Amino acid sequence: MKDHRRRMIWFCSTQIVAERPDALKRLRDEIGLTTIMPESPICHTSGFRASDGLAARGPFEDWRQRADRWPKAADGIYPPVAGIVGGFDDGQLLRAIEVAHDAGIEVWGHIGLWSYGGEVFPEFAMRDVDGAELSARWKAWGTGLCPSNPQVDAWTADGLADVTARYEVDGFCVDHARYPQPANLHALVACACQHCCAAGEALGFDAQRLVAAAREARDALRSLGARRLRRALDSELRGPDLLPALGVPRATWEWLLMRAALLAARMAAFRARVQDVRGEPIPFGSDVFAPSIALLGGHDYHRWEQSTDFLTGGSSAGGVVGWATASTNAAAEWAQALVDQVPDVAQEDAVELALRLLSQENIDLPRNIVSLQSGDLPLVDLYTREVARLVALTEDRVPLYPPISAGGPPERVRQLAAAVRDHGCHGAMIGIDPDHAESRQALRDGLGELALPD
Ligand SMILES: [Zn+2]
Repeated sequence: MKDHRRRMIWFCSTQIVAERPDALKRLRDEIGLTTIMPESPICHTSGFRASDGLAARGPFEDWRQRADRWPKAADGIYPPVAGIVGGFDDGQLLRAIEVAHDAGIEVWGHIGLWSYGGEVFPEFAMRDVDGAELSARWKAWGTGLCPSNPQVDAWTADGLADVTARYEVDGFCVDHARYPQPANLHALVACACQHCCAAGEALGFDAQRLVAAAREARDALRSLGARRLRRALDSELRGPDLLPALGVPRATWEWLLMRAALLAARMAAFRARVQDVRGEPIPFGSDVFAPSIALLGGHDYHRWEQSTDFLTGGSSAGGVVGWATASTNAAAEWAQALVDQVPDVAQEDAVELALRLLSQENIDLPRNIVSLQSGDLPLVDLYTREVARLVALTEDRVPLYPPISAGGPPERVRQLAAAVRDHGCHGAMIGIDPDHAESRQALRDGLGELALPD
């Protein structure tokens, strides 16, 4: 593999770094920390203060008046939306940047993009193939914003330019640069609004045909019968090859490619804007979904490698972005939808179908929805497979920094880290309590030479 830059990145709280320079130095010396990606849980960016003029024309500035749609507004918690919302005190961020640079650690700025906020700002939200808003049924997986809305897009780019000019950040790792987790079934047939169709056409896709294919796919799955499902399972087909056996047109795959292409094009434009302002290339990238669900969530790694400067992930397991549990979470929601809607289908058949669609049926997983969601899953095996797929699906154009959450049992942390090292990745995005000596040791043992300070 190419000699890409080794990086050990800490996904951390801005406040902790600002108040604890010792923690930063300890991680630098013990696990070879090179970079921090600080985030404030209050404003969901690194803690940037948008310029007043910019904030005044922000599309999301009235969030405090939307407590009916965003109850956390009452506690002063910002909704996660695209770009930089105004009114935040940036004192801790300025201090964190100073502390990091004193320790020889680079700082990657963090802002959100599209996969959340649609329920708070329906006027900017994704629309499905019939122009409808996304169902609230799967809102835990995100209710996204349209990635092609010109007002949001221009304002986000201006916000990136604004903070690039005013803060000493050494790069950007943007968050939520995706559609909702594909466990949100409804989000798979969105966004099909006029802006997204126009953007798809501009990239060479036949958007109207692909929207029609997505609608046909949804209708076919809605009317799937137990017999057809049984025949599909008997076929031993898997992955996209299984779609025609379910009555889903093959063009549905192109629909997914078009959705993903829109996001990659926006990322390339944001990167160009940032580099233009800075006058030199600084790394610009994002976390991506785990390989088994990546394209379904809007990440075509091939395009992402051309549009960004690195690939990383949010966490190694759990939640919306956990890699090991990405496919099990999606499979559980899909299987539940199938059970709800197809009379006489056995739960184990529904789970089997979902796992086969994700090419995950040949790993030791329960054929039971509740166990898939909360059972004792083979997390190391699932994670290791995702890392292997990441390497196989990329072209070695950019460095790969898979996510490692180091808070779990030390032996598991060591195995996750070893998977990253053994597959030739170039570092990791780490979630860690810096005071937890066992976690630091487990990381060091698993990462081997990747944890050696430069
Ligand atoms: Zn749209």
